[in-house]
Amino acid sequence: MPSLQSVISCLSDYDPSALPVAQANRIIDEVAEPVSGVEQLAIRSALDRVLAEDVVSGIDVPAHDNSAMDGYAFAGATLSAGGAVTLDVAGTAYAGTVFDGRPAPGQAVRIMTGAIMPAGCDTVIPQEFVDVLDDGRRIRFAADAVRTGDNRRLRGEDLAKGQAALSAGRILRPADIGLLASLGVAEVRVRRRLRVAFFSTGDELRSIGEPLDEGCVYDSNRYTLHGMLRRMNVDLIDMGVVRDDPAALEAAFRSACENADAVITSGGVSVGEADYTKQIMAGLGDVTFWKIAMRPGRPMAFGRIASHGRSALLFGLPGNPVAVMVTFYHFVRQALHRLMGADAAPLPLMRVRSAQPIRKKPGRTEYQRGILAQAADGSWEARITGQQGSGVLRSMSEANCFIVLSHEQGAVAAGDSVDVMLFDGLV
Ligand code: AMP
Ligand code: MG
Repeated sequence: MPSLQSVISCLSDYDPSALPVAQANRIIDEVAEPVSGVEQLAIRSALDRVLAEDVVSGIDVPAHDNSAMDGYAFAGATLSAGGAVTLDVAGTAYAGTVFDGRPAPGQAVRIMTGAIMPAGCDTVIPQEFVDVLDDGRRIRFAADAVRTGDNRRLRGEDLAKGQAALSAGRILRPADIGLLASLGVAEVRVRRRLRVAFFSTGDELRSIGEPLDEGCVYDSNRYTLHGMLRRMNVDLIDMGVVRDDPAALEAAFRSACENADAVITSGGVSVGEADYTKQIMAGLGDVTFWKIAMRPGRPMAFGRIASHGRSALLFGLPGNPVAVMVTFYHFVRQALHRLMGADAAPLPLMRVRSAQPIRKKPGRTEYQRGILAQAADGSWEARITGQQGSGVLRSMSEANCFIVLSHEQGAVAAGDSVDVMLFDGLV
């Protein structure tokens, strides 16, 4: 496992007081390494888990050439004469059974969707294009209603035997579970679930149910973190609120890293705070304190802390509620994917029109909370959700996307294109 300091010392332009988002992510990526531990699960239980092995198809799917339509199967060569084609119906092929015999030239076989193509047949004319004659003993259709090979599914066209169906690192989606079932695979090996401990720090925090004394706020970060972590399908260790008290903080950090793969805290990492969090973090391991060139979410602690021979990756997130969510999505999420052995792709950005001017200075990445909606002409445009303060959690709740304004970018004029990252699939 590379140490944080060794990764950082390789960077010539490293500046912890103005660290670009991309550079912070590169450092996190290098330090975070997949945890070991694999278990074997029935495929249904493997949904949202990380595949720990490559799955190769042991069979051809489908196993035979078969019909994609209800209709009549015949040899496509019959079509070459053009005009109207008349064929004798030699029998019926049903799904799940093999049609006995081989139609002679001039013959067709009535066929159901999914039924094996009878020998010598390579084309299916859908029944709606056919005139049925003589009580179903003959059919007639126009030669140009179909081309040779139409409406036939080829053996192995979904997956050929020996072909890689799914690769290790994949987070299994419903389609993947179905794909495994189509191969007849009952169980797969997946990575063990990640254990993530989290707590809030701050003397001003009150838990739900407690009276709000003057100057106090309810602890909301633990709730947004809980929700975001649940969506990532990790095992959660909710450690509650920890006071700004050295002994309590140290005990919490120690217990967290003894029991979890990653520890996420909020609050107590900003400059000039009368908080002890930073000192305790630094005392327990290889930790760095960054002022990331971003908004919201500037201060963040990152590193590895250890206690009694057990260690965990640490994310000390800012206290402000929006900053917690933004830093989670743009740093923690990717790191947790890496720890869980997943090769999750970066979330896609879409370019849409900005409905309004947005103030922005070059030199930091901004994650404005946005609403992507359809304009009267049917095109999509983004606007920001009023108040963008990093304490205004309502902006996250109202938004359906981040408007991501890149590091170099300056002010945006109404009508300019901006990048948006949709919350769907994210929150
Ligand atoms: P800090 O980073 O500890 O200076 O906190 C920055 C701001 O975020 C302060 O206004 C805190 O009251 C607020 N804050 C810190 N932690 C939480 C929390 N868990 N829930 C809601 N607000 C918080
Ligand atoms: Mg604080």
